Amino acid sequence: MSDSHGFAARAEQTPTLSTVLRCCAAVAATPARLVRPRRADRGLLAGLTVLDPPSARTTVQLTVIRQGDMAAPKTIVAEGVRSLRSLPLTMAAFLVEHPKGRFLVDPALCSKVHDRVLPELPFPIPLLVAPHKPVLGLADALAARGLAGGDLDFVIPTHLHWDHVSGLLELPTSMPIRLPRAEHEWAMSGAHAPIGVARGPLRDRAFDLFDLDGPPVLTFPRSRDLFGDGSVLLVDLAGHTPGSIGVLLAVDDGSRVLLAGDAVWSKLQIDLLREKAPMPGQIFDTDRDAAFTTVHRLHALPPGIEIIAGHDHAAITARAARN
Ligand SMILES: [Zn+2]
Repeated sequence: MSDSHGFAARAEQTPTLSTVLRCCAAVAATPARLVRPRRADRGLLAGLTVLDPPSARTTVQLTVIRQGDMAAPKTIVAEGVRSLRSLPLTMAAFLVEHPKGRFLVDPALCSKVHDRVLPELPFPIPLLVAPHKPVLGLADALAARGLAGGDLDFVIPTHLHWDHVSGLLELPTSMPIRLPRAEHEWAMSGAHAPIGVARGPLRDRAFDLFDLDGPPVLTFPRSRDLFGDGSVLLVDLAGHTPGSIGVLLAVDDGSRVLLAGDAVWSKLQIDLLREKAPMPGQIFDTDRDAAFTTVHRLHALPPGIEIIAGHDHAAITARAARN
């Protein structure tokens, strides 16, 4: 990033004081929730309509690209878990190859992301979210698979937090970014980037905006069928951010995989029906109530859907082993 680019990005940061105050409030709210986590809404669960998985007329190839690792206490990833252990977390991109297009879900990290992107985030956020060094940059990860950025047709971020789009810095600026209109509006309008968003990788990019105007799918209220054949369905996972989406794939090994972004960070949250603790949830979930509703929708999914939460080390490494 050039100096002028960096200056522009820093000028759009949320001010440090308000970020520190938000973090303090989140930390203060956390101990009580570790003892008494927010209870599941049984009425909401009972009222959910659960549709059968839609049929798909073709399948896709899925390749998991692990790019970085970090860890967080289990009890804050899924609040109230009685464990002092830390939970390994992973940052990853997902390469999807469909007969009509090759694309990435979450172009996650560029090389040297600690220097190129993290400084855009207001203090103390970089201290909370930095992956272990070094990370595998997207260009290097693609090259290891015999691909260059120009071999991709487009990218689909599950949302616009920095750790899902920093790899854009290593892709052509003309690369179309397919994205719900609501997510673009939330991240890119306003004087300050929302906490968790670094606008540097997103500036001067070719956005191809859409609305989720398709019918309910599984437990999700809205969808979009990317190729019109049921193989790649985008579903509404709003809450973590306003335009968070999941990507439901019909994979060529016969599995149905839901790339769930950061609606949850780990499947633990889905199994136990738990929010993230206030720290980090109050900082990084835009609408906590909507995010918890989405956790209920994930919990109620019919069997046979392999859910890969955005940073779920176990789920990501299990899938990567099948690359
Ligand atoms: Zn993330």
